[in-house]
Amino acid sequence: MMRWLGLPARPRFSAEQYAAFLEDRAPLRSRMLRAAVFCVLIFYLSCFLFDLWLLGDVTALSATLRFGVMLPIAIGLLFYIAGDHPIEKKEIAAILVALLANVCWCAILVSSESPGVLSYFYAAASFQMAITIAAASPFRPALRASIFTFCLNYSAIWFLAGTSPSYVIQHLAVYMPTVIMTLLVSYQLEVEALTSHLQMQENEALKRELARQNKELARLSVTDPLTKLANRRGTEMELMRLMTEVADDARRVVVLVADVDHFKAYNDAYGHGAGDDCLKRVARAMRRSLPIEAHLARHGGEEFLAILSGADGEQAPALAENLRRAVRQLGVAHAFTGDRNAFVTISVGAACGAIQAEGDFERLLDAADRALYAAKADGRNTWRVSVADEEQRVVA
Ligand code: GH3
Ligand code: MG
Ligand code: MG
Repeated sequence: MMRWLGLPARPRFSAEQYAAFLEDRAPLRSRMLRAAVFCVLIFYLSCFLFDLWLLGDVTALSATLRFGVMLPIAIGLLFYIAGDHPIEKKEIAAILVALLANVCWCAILVSSESPGVLSYFYAAASFQMAITIAAASPFRPALRASIFTFCLNYSAIWFLAGTSPSYVIQHLAVYMPTVIMTLLVSYQLEVEALTSHLQMQENEALKRELARQNKELARLSVTDPLTKLANRRGTEMELMRLMTEVADDARRVVVLVADVDHFKAYNDAYGHGAGDDCLKRVARAMRRSLPIEAHLARHGGEEFLAILSGADGEQAPALAENLRRAVRQLGVAHAFTGDRNAFVTISVGAACGAIQAEGDFERLLDAADRALYAAKADGRNTWRVSVADEEQRVVA
């Protein structure tokens, strides 16, 4: 029917979605409902003046029903709406009170013999408006309540003083457009509320997905795809952290540079794929051999860089030896080293010092590189430690 009228379809919600929708809008709806009930109540009570003016013969009944019956019930309704109850129940309560107010009003008008009652009865449409527009009830309860008010008002109309079939037709001509228009508004309001809730949910889901992807992107931007170790950017971030976030004593670091020996020959002999696998295994072995807090990165091709903060130079030999042994113990065969080693090995250069200012790390890295060069020159599968301001020293 609604689609036939060209109205948008009501979005379909699962039970959980609808429960979330109700919960989401409950605080605002409660406030709106309270305001609507308050305004309609003031209007309803002030209509006593119309009763006095147009229907002088039922003043006592009007005062009793409006102030003795409806006022206490409406105050109870206001308290109920302010309480901690489900919003659907509050809405139903508001509709029931509006219907009761309509019953009382019909009773007042039917009891009157005044000639003004017929023109006054056109105000029946205001109950329809109170249900659908003032209370902005959801469409289905509003439709049921509209049918009820319609039946009530058009039952009462036959008992009014001076009524006639032509009066009923004239009344219908005013009342029916009100019913149809207000129900359309009620339907449209509900569809809009449901649609905007759906859109909000979708936006929230998109935001969450975007945040997840950003996090993943940030992780990927500092990760080497082959070895899953940090890449150069990851090392830059670590250095930044060391310079800005950690305490002074933690800025003393051991820097280790490790390079796979004869790796070109390995690639040439076993293929690039085997070379990649080898690099992955070497990276895992090195990661396992270092303390958990150590930063380990792929520094370039087959070269790795480790930084251990809060460490002093005395720890450097043990760290370098751990790295070397871990790779050698992998036992990856390499029959083309051209020397007495028949396995994949690494050479390690280490340096220690404090990272406090621009250029400190580069100086340590140069020193570690020189130590690495010495280890290579000394036959590989070994390590050397460089101590600042001293001759390069062989510790092994
Ligand atoms: P040295 O013992 O002196 O370090 O000799 P080397 O052969 O290891 O050194 P060289 O610099 O001559 O060769 C490095 C090789 O590492 C060359 C390059 O093909 C290989 N390599 C660099 N990155 C990758 C990579 O991502 N995958 C593979 N499979 N090989 C790589
Ligand atoms: Mg190499
Ligand atoms: Mg190299």
